[in-house]
Amino acid sequence: MVDRKNKQSRKEALDRWKADQRTTARAKLPLTDEHLQSMFDMLDEALPQRGCDHTLRLTTEWLVLNNLPIELVVNWLHENGGYCDCEALANSEQAWHDATGGVN
Ligand SMILES: [Zn+2]
Repeated sequence: MVDRKNKQSRKEALDRWKADQRTTARAKLPLTDEHLQSMFDMLDEALPQRGCDHTLRLTTEWLVLNNLPIELVVNWLHENGGYCDCEALANSEQAWHDATGGVN
């Protein structure tokens, strides 16, 4: 039964590591879940209509309108593969979902 025990503790260690990663990722989120949800919803709607101009134009506009910290959010988007509006939606939204444990 030694093997099973080892396997169990390896799984526990992995689960702990994943939980730690998630906690770290969560702590780095620049906005509340509600705001992030609204931001990605906005991109979902605005991108098909206005298109991506290879900048974070739509995201920045939305942040200004909502009086939110542009630099903080843009830095976070960059760290998570979002260098323009469509990448923010494609890559950074996934990073947010990963950080929240897929509950969103
Ligand atoms: Zn783009």
